[in-house]
Amino acid sequence: MTQQTQQQIKHVEHFINGERTAGTGDRTQEIYNPATGEVSGILHLTTDEDLQATVAAARKAADTWGDVSLAKRTAVLFKFRELVAAHTDELAALITAEHGKVLSDAKGEVGRGLEVVEFACGIAEQLKGEFSDQFSTGIDVYSFRQPLGVVAGITPFNFPVMVPLWMAPVAIATGNAFILKPSERDPSPSLLIAELWQRAGLPDGVFQVLHGGKEAVDGLLTHPDVDGISFVGSTPIAKYVHETATKHGKRVQALGGAKNHAIVLPDADMDSAADNLTAAAFGSAGERCMAVSVAVAVGEAADLLVDKLAERAKDITVGNGMDASSDMGPVITPASRDRVVRIVTAAEEAGAAVVVDGRELIVQDHENGFFVGPTVLDRVRQDMEAYEEEIFGPVLVVLRVDSLEEGIEIINANPYGNGTAIFTSSGAYARQFKRRVTVGMIGVNVPIPVPVAWHSFGGWKASLFGDHHIYGPDGVRFYTRGKAVTERWPEPHHASGASFAFPSSG
Ligand code: NAD
Repeated sequence: MTQQTQQQIKHVEHFINGERTAGTGDRTQEIYNPATGEVSGILHLTTDEDLQATVAAARKAADTWGDVSLAKRTAVLFKFRELVAAHTDELAALITAEHGKVLSDAKGEVGRGLEVVEFACGIAEQLKGEFSDQFSTGIDVYSFRQPLGVVAGITPFNFPVMVPLWMAPVAIATGNAFILKPSERDPSPSLLIAELWQRAGLPDGVFQVLHGGKEAVDGLLTHPDVDGISFVGSTPIAKYVHETATKHGKRVQALGGAKNHAIVLPDADMDSAADNLTAAAFGSAGERCMAVSVAVAVGEAADLLVDKLAERAKDITVGNGMDASSDMGPVITPASRDRVVRIVTAAEEAGAAVVVDGRELIVQDHENGFFVGPTVLDRVRQDMEAYEEEIFGPVLVVLRVDSLEEGIEIINANPYGNGTAIFTSSGAYARQFKRRVTVGMIGVNVPIPVPVAWHSFGGWKASLFGDHHIYGPDGVRFYTRGKAVTERWPEPHHASGASFAFPSSG
């Protein structure tokens, strides 16, 4: 490394108890710019000592923050909302520099995160509780919710701003202290988020950032002072997180991977379906948990759909996400690119037709970037790796089926159940589809049906472990515990004597 490049490389530190700190250890990891292949930063990894300090600060902060009035908590949320909105460009630039997605997409990600902050600004409405006046004579019953205490969020690389914002605003608004363990691949935006919380007036220790890999995650999953875990990432790790943290007595929601199918019926508006599928398959280089990675073409829809998809996929401009002319950026690592290429080759050898081939793509002046071009595979079968695996790259596989019935059976047999969509002009087929599929989020002529923040997000089957979906009303339930109070204020001098029958209403 030359002296000059060393100077350009930034150090990404933890944010513990209101301060940036390199922590107590000397273990570090390189951060890459996937568009250039260059090292852009050095990430400081946690030690057990740092982790203990973070959890202790969170515990202390939770005890006081949970008692702060709803009005004061909400004021911080409103201020935070303004600051995130004002720093959208800066956050988006940090995302693109480390993740690679195009800037417009990165700004969209910030916008969807902001939406959850806006939901959390209305937390007073969500925490109103329930009241039964005079349920029994002289007895009122009411229920309300209180914070869990200390909760940790463990997040994936593909949405370094949005996914932390699926969690933290709701956790904090409901009175918890939140520890973020972001992905090691694109950790910088989380530090700006921490600063924005601080500038919004959030007390030290309520939002902290701790960096690391498995050791940091394990430390949080097993720590007796951590009460809840929100996880978003791949299915094997989600399952592991769920099992380990529940074994240690914690409340857990662990969202996993996906293989999202879109059924296209012959009566669909084929241009609109092809536009939507192209955006949903290749946006963010396919690195979205709600990417459409399987098109299920019914009957005579297939030939026309594949032609239109091929036309559009060939038109996509791949390049540096910072460049406004790019539609699609690189994938996250060279290993990820090599895996995509290997899976496409295996599918070809197993009989799939490579209609558009992104394997050989070289982006000019970015020869060391981690690029792979949009790829469309037709005539894929369910026993091929390209169908069985979540590829998490710019690959759209097309399955041809004879009927809607057959399409639904394929979707329901798939182990994942995150999102799905149907493209049709028939309300009756759409209704049948949405009622029968075993998937958590459904789009009708909408390809990426990510629910708005006032609803909750979550898949079924291997796409979610735990009982609660994330953000929205389920998020409020996840980060709080209910209490029910049965209350009587006896009138003076009206003691009625002890009764030994089980109390009932009257
Ligand atoms: P990942 O599972 O590799 O990592 C997620 C988090 O887990 C990171 O913070 C990472 O540090 C940590 N981690 C990794 N290996 C671990 C281990 N062995 N033990 C403990 N912790 C570990 O996921 P990723 O590659 O960062 O993200 C992509 C995946 O996330 C895809 O599968 C995608 O579908 C999924 N995802 C799902 C959703 C959803 O809402 N369901 C949303 C976004 C991403």
